Amino acid sequence: MTTTDQKETTMVDQRNPIGVHALVWVGGTRPDEIARAVQRTKAAGYDLLELSLHEMDVLDVDDTRRAIDEAGLQVACSRGLAFDADVSSDDPEVVARGEQILHESLDVVSGLGGSILTGALYSALGKYGRPLTEAGRANVVRVLRDLAKEASGRGVRLGLEICNRYETNVVNTARDALRLADDIGEDNVFIHLDTYHMNIEESDFVTPVLDVADRLGYVHIGENHRGYLGSGSIDFPSFFHALARVGFTGPITFESFSSAVVSPTLSNDLAVWRSLWSDGDDLARRAHTFIETHLAASASIDA
Ligand code: MN
Repeated sequence: MTTTDQKETTMVDQRNPIGVHALVWVGGTRPDEIARAVQRTKAAGYDLLELSLHEMDVLDVDDTRRAIDEAGLQVACSRGLAFDADVSSDDPEVVARGEQILHESLDVVSGLGGSILTGALYSALGKYGRPLTEAGRANVVRVLRDLAKEASGRGVRLGLEICNRYETNVVNTARDALRLADDIGEDNVFIHLDTYHMNIEESDFVTPVLDVADRLGYVHIGENHRGYLGSGSIDFPSFFHALARVGFTGPITFESFSSAVVSPTLSNDLAVWRSLWSDGDDLARRAHTFIETHLAASASIDA
């Protein structure tokens, strides 16, 4: 094998898994919905299916694992907490409920054979009426440190997804998330950037990526209105160049929401009021091409 061949092989091996959020296909996680989401994810050319764990009680873990394995897909799990089960609260009972949900979520990730649990693991997903308190932040650090230690033994890594000010008061910027990850102090805690949230809170689409660098573990690609990629105002070329610059090889997952596909709980938490698309298959196929094209374009410059 020549050096060029080796380089090409390495590049192929390090290709970012491209994922899609299940809410592009289905509103819930009942077995029939999982089957549909798996089939469509595969048909649209994706490598990874992201499942939200907001309805864990209806999720058949063994059945879902079988469906994902048979399709040859990877899985990632995400979730936020709720105001009555919130590890950033000052109230020990509310914190305890949030902590219990996180540990149950970790059980589900393990059961699915997954290695990623990410999202707003640190708070409810919704608008807070006041800033995070010092005691609340200390609760986040303690709970996520304990969760990370348990996750480590199961080969699971935890993501801190940075969300905008209307969805959390714990981490709104990459700098916030890096400080929180430092305070948690566990190697299996990574940073998760989402272009939709970055567009609201960050100064640009490059600096946060360079700041996070090798601590970036997961990416959500979404437009400023969470519709078709390329139909909004996000500066994707800059963002993809930044990913190439830091050598990011982790999953890049397309996240899009429309009132055409409704989860009774998650859609309301995410304020999905508009119909931005109706055909998830068309949306997802075009998003996959969009992501692949931007990766290839960035690699042509930065590799
Ligand atoms: Mn996201």
